[in-house]
Amino acid sequence: MKQARPTLRAQNISKSFGTNPVLTGIDIDLYPGEWLGILGESGSGKSTLLRILGRFLDAEQGDVIFKGNALKPVSGELMPGHDAIKLIHQEFELFPNQTVAENIAYSLRFYEEAYRTEKVAELLDMTALHYVSGQKAKLLSGGEKQRTAIAKALAELPEVLLLDEPFAHLDNHNRRVLADAIEKLRHQQKTGCIFVTHEAADALAWSDRIAVLRNGEIIQIGTPQEVYNNPINSYVAELTGDINWLPGDKGSKQFYIRPEKIKPTKNPEKSKWQGKVEAIRFHGNHWEIRCTKGKEQLSFYRNKPDLEIGQQVMLTYPAKDLKSI
Ligand code: ADP
Ligand code: MG
Repeated sequence: MKQARPTLRAQNISKSFGTNPVLTGIDIDLYPGEWLGILGESGSGKSTLLRILGRFLDAEQGDVIFKGNALKPVSGELMPGHDAIKLIHQEFELFPNQTVAENIAYSLRFYEEAYRTEKVAELLDMTALHYVSGQKAKLLSGGEKQRTAIAKALAELPEVLLLDEPFAHLDNHNRRVLADAIEKLRHQQKTGCIFVTHEAADALAWSDRIAVLRNGEIIQIGTPQEVYNNPINSYVAELTGDINWLPGDKGSKQFYIRPEKIKPTKNPEKSKWQGKVEAIRFHGNHWEIRCTKGKEQLSFYRNKPDLEIGQQVMLTYPAKDLKSI
């Protein structure tokens, strides 16, 4: 993937609102067909970055380069945006009084009817919207609106899709339907995608690479496994998943371990940590067990409720999974 020329490249992008710097020196490349997840907390600059990449907002510094050519500034132009780069905002722009099918077909209005009909059916299929194809957009649920907006954008065969918090505000059912649509999209089309999210689980599940954005700066880029298993600092470690901290024996250096690496043991020779079960929380597909020893705390997961509050436990983990930062 890396050998190809990037489809979209952000080069040293900086942007402030007033005296407030929102993005600083952003460098990212999106390769053909790649899904790049930008993970960052609320206010870290995710939407601003997408608006710059989609040519809805100009950066103060730096370039957005599409297939080797720097994009022209958008200010002063009647039509913001870019034909081959489609941004789907957090508020979707649909025609409220037109049906789902009509909204999608609008993007195909310059094509022959036979092609248009076939393409609309294909997109309804991909986004699981057949059952509401005749429904007016204003009557759709949030999840349906979102999928209609995606289908409408895909009708124009963009080379890059920019999705702003695609999973936010979706219930479990709609999350799964959208996840299925994304899965199909990833396999059937060559569209590259930059999506932003504040949810680590979504970034880990859907990205070929993740870029972590903190206060307007990209602080780490890597595959989901690299970022999760080798976070560059404690901020990334905590942002990407549950974590346990253990005091280090060399000065102030801290050690951390992910909960899924820890298991109880009955063998004192294998035990690396002993403590008391303090809390047991049910999460549906697993139990989270929280143990304490003095000021130290360790959490781990069980797939059955075989421990009790107050019980003393010995815990073990592979030495390589206790890491220092
Ligand atoms: P995110 O999408 O990660 O939540 P945003 O890009 O929306 O973050 O916002 C980043 C920062 O920029 C926030 O502090 C926000 O208040 C500020 N901001 C965003 N848009 C504007 C604007 N049009 N004018 C002034 N400040 C803005
Ligand atoms: Mg946002």
